[in-house]
Amino acid sequence: MRTISFRALLITSSLLLLLIFFGMTVYSLNERQNLFQQQLDRKADSLQQSFELTLHEQENKMILLASMVAADPVVQELFYHGSRMVVIEGGGKGGEEAARLRQALFDRVAPAWRQMQEQYALRQLHFHLPPAKSYLRVHAPDHFGDDLTSIRPIIVNTNHTGKSQTGFEIGRVYSGIRGVTPVWYTRQDGTLAHVGALEAGASVDSVLSRLAPMLDAELTLLLNRKDVEQTVWDEFRPEPVSACDCYIEATTSDRVIQWMQRSKLSFDELSQQGSVQILNWEDRVYSLARFPLQDYSSQTENSALPPPGIIISWQDITELWHEERRAQQLLILITAGAYMLTQLLLLLLLRRLREMMQQRVNAAAAEAEQAQLQLTSLLSDSPVVTYSLRTPGTSLDYISPNCTHLLGYHPEHIIGDDHWWVEHIHPHDREYVRQTLDWTQWPTKGIRRRYRLQHNNGQWRWIEDRCRASRSVDGVQMLNGVLLDITAQHRAEEALKESERSLRRAQRIGAVGSWEYHFADQSLTWSEETYRIFSVTPEQTPDYALFISRVHPDDRELVDSTWHNAIQGGRYNLEHRVVAGGEVRWVREMADFEHDETGILRATGMVQDITSQKLREQELHRLATSDALTGLANRRYFMERLEQERARAVRFNTHCGLMMIDLDHFKQVNDQFGHATGDRVLKAFADTAAAQMRQIDIIGRIGGEEFAVLLPGTDMEGAKILAERLRLAIAAISFADIHSLHVTTSIGVTVITKADHEVDAPLGRADKAVYTAKHNGRDRIEIAE
Ligand code: GH3
Ligand code: MG
Ligand code: MG
Repeated sequence: MRTISFRALLITSSLLLLLIFFGMTVYSLNERQNLFQQQLDRKADSLQQSFELTLHEQENKMILLASMVAADPVVQELFYHGSRMVVIEGGGKGGEEAARLRQALFDRVAPAWRQMQEQYALRQLHFHLPPAKSYLRVHAPDHFGDDLTSIRPIIVNTNHTGKSQTGFEIGRVYSGIRGVTPVWYTRQDGTLAHVGALEAGASVDSVLSRLAPMLDAELTLLLNRKDVEQTVWDEFRPEPVSACDCYIEATTSDRVIQWMQRSKLSFDELSQQGSVQILNWEDRVYSLARFPLQDYSSQTENSALPPPGIIISWQDITELWHEERRAQQLLILITAGAYMLTQLLLLLLLRRLREMMQQRVNAAAAEAEQAQLQLTSLLSDSPVVTYSLRTPGTSLDYISPNCTHLLGYHPEHIIGDDHWWVEHIHPHDREYVRQTLDWTQWPTKGIRRRYRLQHNNGQWRWIEDRCRASRSVDGVQMLNGVLLDITAQHRAEEALKESERSLRRAQRIGAVGSWEYHFADQSLTWSEETYRIFSVTPEQTPDYALFISRVHPDDRELVDSTWHNAIQGGRYNLEHRVVAGGEVRWVREMADFEHDETGILRATGMVQDITSQKLREQELHRLATSDALTGLANRRYFMERLEQERARAVRFNTHCGLMMIDLDHFKQVNDQFGHATGDRVLKAFADTAAAQMRQIDIIGRIGGEEFAVLLPGTDMEGAKILAERLRLAIAAISFADIHSLHVTTSIGVTVITKADHEVDAPLGRADKAVYTAKHNGRDRIEIAE
């Protein structure tokens, strides 16, 4: 990055500032100058207007004077007759009579002429015969008779139109401001005759000398040399001014002549009307304005030729000029002051800015230094080792100094060594690492590889190497990576894997599965063993519906209600059957409900296959409660049930029949056919009797060949019917191999009543009835109320 020095900034901005102020000053001065010039131009305009107004006024005065003289009937008559006499006497100057009449006319107007000369600055009074022949010059009586047609259009026009005309015009004798009026004569017969024209003229000088003090200006009238020399008689011509090739017709000051002689401007150049000129002349300052003076012809013809006259106005503006100069100097002074002040402020501002920037730079540098220190200390303490490779291969270009902690080697041992890395990889991992060496095959996010590296102390360290190929700033392909010591993590992972294996094994041995249910997303996870218990393939995703479908239909209601009770805060601890893989299994389930750290309910449970245990239990129960020979309830179990039924009958005031059965002359069966046959008879009895009983009836062997039957809900009448049916069924038993063998029974029947406070009472009654039946001849039933 290019930096700009403070000095350069200061100089540049100061120059810029100077330029701005300089530009502003020049502009302001120029504006002021323009305004000043405009002021002078306006003054010149009004001067011109004043001049023209005065000129016009003078013209009017002239026409008035001429009209006054022309209105005199004597003048009219003398002029009339004089004009006729000139014709009569042969034209031209006329003869004697004409001269007499001219003299008479002169004498007539002479007094007025003198008076008008004094009062009105009249300089000419001139009678003309048509078209423009001089008849009488009152101002130069000796000069007459000359033809002025070609040089005096104002006279020609007046005689031609018969109307008064005014204007400036150069004449034979003088140049002047003229008023010309026609002269009429009324003849004896009353007819009106046009005699000629009377012209009154005043010098421009009179106008100039009147205006000059009023306007506080000097005024000069210049006339074109050619025009003057064409018209004015030599004797009346003044000395021409050679510098401008012109005549000074009138002036209020001689300085103009001096100036013109020095400036050497031609008449044509002077006639180019421009702005007012400012000029220094003998320690004074003057404004010089010029405007044209049109004569009678150029006024009417609007000719493109240069005007015959130029008015130069010459005004002393020394005071005004100095005032303006002072104002300009003040402006420069103020601007300069403002510039210096601004420059000073700029300087202060820039210095303050530099100080502030310097402070910031210092602070940033301190911060950067601090950050560098922190980074260095962080890196040296960090367990993360960084490295990089610029060239493909196995030679490292850089490895962070904290590799000493990880590997026990200093970076200089490792950097630049082609073999170090490969040699320190565990032989079992080398092939795997070798396969990852081709950078070009790597995904852009890089790769992670795990392998063992040998520490300087000979021990193996598990390393996670996260590396990525990228392009450096200068476009070179490079490899950057970090090495992390994951030995402890690797060990922990191995231990975890081992413990998971153990758990799986334990679950398999104990046929115990585990599961976890998350209520938030209703997800259910099963352990391997759980899948096995429920005969579900690992591809299936378990859920509650799948679980319920595996529960035995008879147990589903139980399981479902227990589950929902448990969610409400109850216990989940039950045994039920499942139908899995086409067989019925018994399982025991237990679960624990808890809220996780986010407050969501979660159930962790175990399921144990207890089928074999259940079968064993059932067998033991059967063994404990049944008689080994007949399979009927044994005496202890029968007595237990007898007591239960008695208590129930007493409590609910229901019936319960009780039969006591004793086989008749069984000693003889033994004796006659042998003990084994006796056992066969006992078994046959048991089977036949059991077949006669209802599901709820209980038949037990309470002695060698003595049996008892409990008939819950059966009254005496029902018991009697059943006893009779039983007696007949037993008596009908026959044995295929021993035709002569038959067996009969003596049966005592009673009903348990609420008066029976213990089992001995009904037992005693039934026993007594059996005894009675024996006594009464056997193969019979006796009742004991
Ligand atoms: P009574 O008609 O008066 O009952 O004559 P009895 O021969 O049946 O007389 P008692 O009831 O006193 O005899 C019972 C006999 O039953 C005694 C015994 O030998 C026989 N006995 C008892 N238990 C068994 C047994 O388990 N197997 C065999 N084979 N005989 C038994
Ligand atoms: Mg007996
Ligand atoms: Mg007997």
